[in-house]
Amino acid sequence: MSTTVSSPTGDPYLLTPGPLTTSPTVKQAMLHDYGSRDNTFIDINAHMLERLLAIVDGEDSHVSVPLQGSGTFVVEAMMGNFVPADGKVLILVNGAYGHRIAKICDYYRREYIIQESAEDVPVDTDALDQTLGNDPKISHVVMVYCETTSGILNPIEKISEVVARHQRGLLIDAMSAFGALPLSVKNIEFDAVVASSNKCLEGAPGMGFCIARRSAIEKAKGNSPSLSLDLYDQWQAMMKNKQWRFTPPTHVLLAFDQALNEFEEEGGVEGRGGRYRQNGDLLITGMREMGFKTLLPDELQAPIIITFHMPKNPEFDFNAFYDGLREQGYVIYPGKLTVADSFRMGCIGRLNAEQMQGALGAVRSMLDRFGIDEIINP
Ligand SMILES: *Cc1c(COP(=O)(O)O)cnc(C)c1O
Repeated sequence: MSTTVSSPTGDPYLLTPGPLTTSPTVKQAMLHDYGSRDNTFIDINAHMLERLLAIVDGEDSHVSVPLQGSGTFVVEAMMGNFVPADGKVLILVNGAYGHRIAKICDYYRREYIIQESAEDVPVDTDALDQTLGNDPKISHVVMVYCETTSGILNPIEKISEVVARHQRGLLIDAMSAFGALPLSVKNIEFDAVVASSNKCLEGAPGMGFCIARRSAIEKAKGNSPSLSLDLYDQWQAMMKNKQWRFTPPTHVLLAFDQALNEFEEEGGVEGRGGRYRQNGDLLITGMREMGFKTLLPDELQAPIIITFHMPKNPEFDFNAFYDGLREQGYVIYPGKLTVADSFRMGCIGRLNAEQMQGALGAVRSMLDRFGIDEIINP
């Protein structure tokens, strides 16, 4: 019989794209009320903004701006701030998050075109090169670093090199990559990158942030069609009086401060990314041993979330599979793909080898429960 396991606070482990499992100490850090003008709180904010810049080596050339809300809020803010009303955007799409950016442009009435590839195919940089060569009106290119829809890694260095050669602005949704995959202003030229408190930085959900080239955000004045999502205005306010414009998510910030301590203790991007890679390798190896098949070949797979083909065995019932894993303490995620019937298992958040082995044991127990000896793949 299987047993139920749980995190130190009694919660199931989240093998999902987010929200994610956080450490007990990150949750503990939220047990305070701070007024927004409290000096301790103001110092925490200033320190956070410096630490975020340091992660991308941007202290001399870039600025960081926080924003209330989930990750999508700051993606939307990036589009509204950096693309002027007469700009034109080329959106590199290979999954749901790329499509969401197109939807944002629809809302904001920003002109755009899409270069789309299938969810299991990375962005084609030759096609990008050609499109930019043919269309001088394109002012900005937007990309998703790791498309969380499938877990695919897009060729960020090559994309950045092509966009810079054509002298256009690059905007990056690095939500599920920031803090775990390499990203430095030293080798990747960008106007803005956005990410959030809760993915690879392992804070509580509730705020996003934008890291922008100083010259790019200086030009963004007056662009934003939205008041609450005006990054330029938020940046100005933070510089003037070190305060957020509207009620700051104080508890989320306390948790984030602790999460950044733990990130630094783990060895920054290298340490964090290393643990996730080890998690991902364990998961992929163990699932393959049971007969599951990954959507992506290993060279395209980011160590963030893994997509598996849904078994074709008639006995395999995904809802029962999901519920059975949940009962044993592991929450997975359904697939959201158009190219294949699939499900996903994340390897980010406060998880390590023990949780990966545990999840694999739970998967095996479900196969036993279904009476499946051999998985039939599509
Ligand atoms: C999680 C995520 C987002 C933001 O999603 P929210 O649900 O709004 O937090 C955006 N882009 C990518 C690539 C993501 O993984």
